[in-house]
Amino acid sequence: MNLRIPGPTPLPPAVVQAMLGKVPGHRSRQFEELLAEVTAQLRQVFATAGEALVLTGSGTGGLEAAVVNLLSPGQPALFVTVGSFGERWAKIAEAFGVAVSRLAFAPGQAADPAAVAERLRAEPDLGALFLTHCETSTGVLNDLPALVEAARRVRPDLVVAVDGVSSVGAAPLETDAWGLDLVVTASQKALMGPPGLAPVAVSPRGWAAVEAARLPRYYWDLRRARRDAAKRQTPFTPAVQDLLGLRAGLGLLLAEGLPASFVRHAELARLARARLGELGFRPLADEAHASPTVTAAWVPGGLDCRALLGRLEAKEVYLTAGHDKSCTLRIAHMGYVRAVEVEAALAALGEAASALRDVAL
Ligand SMILES: *Cc1c(COP(=O)(O)O)cnc(C)c1O
Repeated sequence: MNLRIPGPTPLPPAVVQAMLGKVPGHRSRQFEELLAEVTAQLRQVFATAGEALVLTGSGTGGLEAAVVNLLSPGQPALFVTVGSFGERWAKIAEAFGVAVSRLAFAPGQAADPAAVAERLRAEPDLGALFLTHCETSTGVLNDLPALVEAARRVRPDLVVAVDGVSSVGAAPLETDAWGLDLVVTASQKALMGPPGLAPVAVSPRGWAAVEAARLPRYYWDLRRARRDAAKRQTPFTPAVQDLLGLRAGLGLLLAEGLPASFVRHAELARLARARLGELGFRPLADEAHASPTVTAAWVPGGLDCRALLGRLEAKEVYLTAGHDKSCTLRIAHMGYVRAVEVEAALAALGEAASALRDVAL
């Protein structure tokens, strides 16, 4: 099987093995050690000397946690969206009664720092800025440092929250150095863990915002998670097996080394873009904003995307549709993956495309 969807990503055998071991009770000493180890690993991948917490839930739960912990009812906040995951975050905020100000860019485009600065100047009461690092629906990697720098030139103390679900571990993301206040990621993408956990990093300015926020929260209350984390505990039953798997996945990632992982992912993205181009599939994102973890491309005219994906699935090669389900597709190259698997998936795509063209003739 060649699973090339953007999460859950394939599990390394060591991760599967780790999850089959004895499961400690979540109030045991063993669990406290497990949580402490995972927290220390997460600080490295978030590049922070500050706090990292592990929430039990999917990445979307982490996005909701960011909203309810940073904002107050009716408070204006800026959501910069370049695709469906950015849009999801804005919708979560709307569901909680936040006065969402949207700055949207067309599919395949990255967010423009100048436009963000302009919006912040035009709407001086915006309480926080929400950015997507890698927009998984279009394969765009936003220039996070440039966006944050442009925003802070207008509003030096603005709280910045980042969706790093499909970038943390695979693309450079420096929580402290870039001044990010709350970063959300998920266990099942580049971190090579199973689905079920949402690690978050919070800066001192982030914590001040968490204390000031007035949106209702209970399960996702970071104040409570922080108090318990100081005692190596979690407020509720955590996904203990998933933590065992995540520790193993993070162990592999850190053994490879983050810089080596960034290089590997960038090379896989270049490979995917080159092969797709040869097959006539034009990537949505331009080279400068190409995601290292997922590539979205236009399906060449005349070919039916669903039929292509169906043919691939029959060969146990799993790609997925893009933002426009009828004419874009996506291939993920994140986590536990090497060039041979990307090559094989795209060779299969080439064969499926030729077979479909033959049928059409
Ligand atoms: C996968 C993903 C999410 C959602 O994560 P779930 O674990 O599916 O809830 C959010 N944002 C981005 C950028 C993603 O790639």
